Amino acid sequence: MLTPAEKTIYTGDTLQGVPVISQLSVKDLAPGQHRFFFQGVPMGTGQHWYVPVVVMQGAQPGKRLVLTAGVHGDELNPVMAVQQIMSQLHPTQMTGTVMAVYDLSRPAKEYTQRLWPTGQKGGALIDLNRVWPGDEMGDDAPTRHAGLLWNRLFQSNVDVALDYHTASTGGEFTMFIFADFRNPEIRQLAELFPVEQIKNDPGESGSLEMAFVKAGIPVMTIEIGGPRSFDRPKIAMTVEGSLNVLKHYGVIAGPLGRTAKDVGTFIGDSFETIRSTTGGYLELLVDLQDRVTPGQTVAIQRNSFGDVVAEYAVSVAGEVATLARDAVSEPGSRVLQILYNSSSPLSGGSHVSGDDY
Ligand SMILES: [Zn+2]
Repeated sequence: MLTPAEKTIYTGDTLQGVPVISQLSVKDLAPGQHRFFFQGVPMGTGQHWYVPVVVMQGAQPGKRLVLTAGVHGDELNPVMAVQQIMSQLHPTQMTGTVMAVYDLSRPAKEYTQRLWPTGQKGGALIDLNRVWPGDEMGDDAPTRHAGLLWNRLFQSNVDVALDYHTASTGGEFTMFIFADFRNPEIRQLAELFPVEQIKNDPGESGSLEMAFVKAGIPVMTIEIGGPRSFDRPKIAMTVEGSLNVLKHYGVIAGPLGRTAKDVGTFIGDSFETIRSTTGGYLELLVDLQDRVTPGQTVAIQRNSFGDVVAEYAVSVAGEVATLARDAVSEPGSRVLQILYNSSSPLSGGSHVSGDDY
């Protein structure tokens, strides 16, 4: 393990007018807005992948937040959400630091695809959200890239992290947050968002969220609907919740916007995942956020002749959280997921109300 970044290192390069850094220590930065390209892992030809970073350094020291948009390359709502959050910040009226990091999975972003295409083994695809905290001497480029970002950009500059995602290509999420309620501070942050659903969730091994959890840093994974395009209503909910978090920590001033309590966010702790049992065309009988009851048929699958080859029913009461948007469905692919409460799987979960506080 390297020692955390003690100072900002400028490589001396400038890219499109923006200085290149190989290490950042935000305490070196004067109040104001700063743009950098962070020098990531080299490609097979020896040139580097560069990651865009914007730092808003407040007039006074305070909480340091990082907003990450682009651990997966086909997830674009996070980019607009983080850009909009940053556009509302004024360093002279801010306390602390807000750092936006875009397009972390650079080659995946270039192809609008979830996974990082490597040159190894004829083009192995790697999920950058399963390799954190990375390893600068790891066995593949994405793992090394994550290690550089973790050691030299995140580790010594972050008190609170918000990692923005969407569903993968072919599917769609509600406006959704994964939050580990074992840490009360994380629960409090999640409920500052006026989102549709929140899942109390311990996190996925190797995810950026899990790396921050293990480092003792409050963090959430925020799923802003579907991939590949901009969903303005969900982006607006994300911006409102994120600004609430900044107000909560005193980074910016102003009254809180709407929260989970105001919009009646549905909270669960479990997913029932329905997967295709065979191949065929999928007709969905429910949509995102629909309430379902045990035994309810939620999808029908037909073969090319139009014969029904499968019907899918749920066994719990809850709300639809994710859906397949691709109508062709291979055996084993995810049809949908129901968010529910393990404490009341047959009677449905709870919406946030005043009683929960
Ligand atoms: Zn993602």
